[in-house]
Amino acid sequence: MASERTIVIGSGPGGATVARELARAGEPVLLLERGRDWRPSRLYGTYPGSLLYAEKGGLLFTDEGMNVIRPLMLGGATSMYCGCSSPPGSWWLDRYGIDLEQDAVAAAGELKVAPLPPELCGVASTRIAEAAGELGMRWEAQDKFMQPARAAEFDCGARCMLGCRCGAKWNAAEWVDDAVQAGAEVWTRAKVDQLRIEEGCVTAVLGRVDGRPFELGAERVVVAAGGIGSAALLRRSGIEGAGRGMTMDTTVMVYGYSRTKGQGAEPPMTWSFPDDDLGVLYSTLIDPWLMYPIVMAAKGPGYPLTWRRWGRTMGVMIKLKDEISGEVTENATIRKGLTPSDRARLSQAETVAGEILRLAGCEYDSIFTTPLRGTHPSGTVRIGEIVNSDLETEIGGLYVCDASVFPEALCRPTVLTIIALARRLSRKLLAGRPTT
Ligand SMILES: Cc1cc2nc3c(=O)[nH]c(=O)nc-3n(C[C@H](O)[C@H](O)[C@H](O)COP(=O)(O)OP(=O)(O)OC[C@H]3O[C@@H](n4cnc5c(N)ncnc54)[C@H](O)[C@@H]3O)c2cc1C
Repeated sequence: MASERTIVIGSGPGGATVARELARAGEPVLLLERGRDWRPSRLYGTYPGSLLYAEKGGLLFTDEGMNVIRPLMLGGATSMYCGCSSPPGSWWLDRYGIDLEQDAVAAAGELKVAPLPPELCGVASTRIAEAAGELGMRWEAQDKFMQPARAAEFDCGARCMLGCRCGAKWNAAEWVDDAVQAGAEVWTRAKVDQLRIEEGCVTAVLGRVDGRPFELGAERVVVAAGGIGSAALLRRSGIEGAGRGMTMDTTVMVYGYSRTKGQGAEPPMTWSFPDDDLGVLYSTLIDPWLMYPIVMAAKGPGYPLTWRRWGRTMGVMIKLKDEISGEVTENATIRKGLTPSDRARLSQAETVAGEILRLAGCEYDSIFTTPLRGTHPSGTVRIGEIVNSDLETEIGGLYVCDASVFPEALCRPTVLTIIALARRLSRKLLAGRPTT
């Protein structure tokens, strides 16, 4: 039996926003999330916890060796993000006719997005921003989904990426809570395996909750399982074009060692600078203490020994606007490396980052680049190819709303853009007519 409720699959910023908007408008909503709600657990925000909720304990690699961090839990990747916010680029309107500005402004206002006050931006991080200034780059304090006043005691360091324990950082799971308060039903540990599609329309959602199979009749489904999950699910459901090519905002860190304290105890990514001509974003970031040796083991012999200098490590993160390449398969295995153009641009950015670190006081011969990693799997169900600008697939009743719909790499923090897309879609679903 088909039901009139909307089934939302995935509880990252895309799914949480749609569920909240629809529930608040009085619509029946069922949200299915394959992971647990880890927030009440003592392990949340700890090293052992992150091994449990990141896929493969954080050791998920593409066939080409890029490390992908994929949190599987209520709130999706916002449970492990750096809390950075960036407005959607004007290119969304210029190139794709999608106006996200008002929705982004409204969401940023509601979530009180702002940079951290200067005294919380970190001494070493600020030194990096100032050193970049000597090269003529005007780094700016990074907007954050963080409100220090929400925390009993603001205690944010590199380990913020394991999950926020002090409560300052917004997590999409909070909007799932709002959705529940407004009447939505949420099933955690509910993994969707497939969508049934009959006569061009979605008719059922099939999966397992706590290992037990379920089949739910559906008229309207919003897939928000993230850049990897949505592509894999759509492919398993017969939408062959999904997952052909992806973007990742492929990332490296350039590290150096200074004589003074490094960035480990400072909030991640407090200063940033986009170079849109080169297609990169620079920011201030180092790996959390216990993650550092794991990353260094992948770098090569000898590098894990640099762990003893973690307390003096300074880092410039580089995110690359990478070209669409690679693939996500129906089993969610990933093929993604760098194209020759990506490689050339990354190499230029590494030189710049090294120079900044040197000016910030790092010993020149201590500077090196970490292996590639991906934290923004996206662009696998692209607007203009698999979904239209209203995020509708060709299958009746089937929508996609998450990072997978990006038509190109953002090379920016993704979350505010996803929330804006989800607000816009929710309006369309509520109005039952296309948005402008
Ligand atoms: C370490 C790290 C730092 C980051 N820092 C920032 C930052 O500072 N700012 C920023 O804007 N972005 C940041 N990001 C990126 C950002 O968090 C993600 O791009 C964003 O959360 C993607 O949202 P989404 O809705 O597409 O999917 P996700 O957040 O990935 O959520 C998808 C959800 O779907 C669930 N799911 C998957 N498959 C299924 C299935 N078959 N059935 C049911 N449920 C399923 C998953 O468990 C997950 O909870 C960071 C990411 C990481 C990993």
